[in-house]
Amino acid sequence: MTGGVVSSLGKGIISSSLANLLKARGYRVTIQKFDPYINVDPGTLNPYEHGECYVTVDGHEADLDLGHYERFTDIQTTRANNITSGRVFQTVIEKERRGDYLGKTVQIVPHITDEIKRSVKKLGTTGDFDFIITEIGGVVGDIESLPFLEAVRQLRWELGNDSLCIHLTYVPYIAAAKELKTKPTQHSVKKLQELGIQPDILVLRTEHDITADARKKIALFCNVSPDAVIQSVDVPTIYEVPLKMHEQHLDEIVLRKTGVTPEGEPHMAPWLHFLKKLKAATCPVTIGLVGKYVELQDAYKSIDEALFQAATYNDRRLDLRLIHSEKVTTDNVDDLLADLDGVVIAPGFGQRGIEGKFVALKWAREHDIPTLGICLGMQCMVIEFARNVLGLEGANSTEMNPTTPHNVIDLMEEQKSISNMGGTMRLGAYDCQLRSGSKAAEAYGTTEISERHRHRFEFNGDYRQAFEQAGMQCVGENPRTHLVEVVEMPDKRWYIGIQYHPEYSSTVLHPHPLFLSFVSAAIAYAAEKGK
Ligand code: GLN
Repeated sequence: MTGGVVSSLGKGIISSSLANLLKARGYRVTIQKFDPYINVDPGTLNPYEHGECYVTVDGHEADLDLGHYERFTDIQTTRANNITSGRVFQTVIEKERRGDYLGKTVQIVPHITDEIKRSVKKLGTTGDFDFIITEIGGVVGDIESLPFLEAVRQLRWELGNDSLCIHLTYVPYIAAAKELKTKPTQHSVKKLQELGIQPDILVLRTEHDITADARKKIALFCNVSPDAVIQSVDVPTIYEVPLKMHEQHLDEIVLRKTGVTPEGEPHMAPWLHFLKKLKAATCPVTIGLVGKYVELQDAYKSIDEALFQAATYNDRRLDLRLIHSEKVTTDNVDDLLADLDGVVIAPGFGQRGIEGKFVALKWAREHDIPTLGICLGMQCMVIEFARNVLGLEGANSTEMNPTTPHNVIDLMEEQKSISNMGGTMRLGAYDCQLRSGSKAAEAYGTTEISERHRHRFEFNGDYRQAFEQAGMQCVGENPRTHLVEVVEMPDKRWYIGIQYHPEYSSTVLHPHPLFLSFVSAAIAYAAEKGK
């Protein structure tokens, strides 16, 4: 899957939609993303650069497109599903240092391109998949993506009909001329052809229907058969895209072109059930998300999606209020939160905006409104409780104040000696044991869970007893290390903090139980308020 004309056309959504359809036909599919930037992984990129950092079960800090892949396909991705130029170069340079190239000159072609091809084929050698969709980040014509496109050219040559290229482009509408313009697409396909790649299928992003004539014209100029020119018109929800692609036979075309005869129809009933619920859900549930990146559309992508799925399955339309944590003060907190049916305190790093989170949490706790604290949000719950209930003045996380008199959130001993930014985090899935009878256990319907983590700091176990005696229970812990993973206040309607990130594993067909339970508590609270 390559992209042309401009970025942000939604290659991830088209890849996910195709994967969704192939999976619904019974095939085993996975999607991988190649990012042409030099960072070894997106873990060190801040959300202004790259939106949310997604985390895979095996602890890889990944591009947020992997979140789309999982939400659309219910297939868990791993570190093999997200590779950057930086990682490719790092691997090649490490091999060079080890002497693996036996004195040869190490070059972009063949060494870098071979490493890229190896990464594509690696997923295939596991025997776990019938189809691998490889998405090449960026736009054709970028200097950065050249080695990837050269690797695609070679792979197409080596694999023949076992591979194909789908190219996603943009067809702009010029309002003054009332015309859709195909020229940018033609140019972008020419660019691809110059690199030796002939696309097999074109997907055209557009705001207006593409006429049969325009389709024919594009087909003729781009050497693509007219039925393989597919339009992707803007739809109210991205979750309709698989249906739109199926209407135009994208899945069948892919099967035919790779030598498979399509049989029957994809099994879309569960997906259609979700879309039906989505259409019917008109009554709102109002949730506030308190964080410091709320102005960035993609910074809390997985949380937004998890809430949206949970609202839909609770037959509500999600009315998400984004609340900037830097702007919450004791003077305005009433105005900002009084309307809400539930509050989520977002994850994050660093001091900025943290005091606003404490103010919001104090208000939420005292007004007994359903509240979910995620990662830093959970740590803030603990700090706010320490300061305002336990009376531990100046209580803090050592992340925010290394000399705090009450380090209720602190580094684990074994992490204190590590200084490399990329190396100190607790990443990936860890088991957690829930206390039976707790609200958390009730939400999950089980006491044995496994959830993904991405953090350095932890609840300080020395304070556990004081918290429990005062009404904040530590109801989830790691069975091996006994680190506290879940806190809750049983005497509140729904006040739960989790050290992990449940949002990463909420999918369209399997919405996360904790989000379902939180939204359902918010709906019950709204009803109590007489809303
Ligand atoms: N900054 C906190 C930590 O490192 C929380 C991280 C997060 O919210 N993902 O522990």
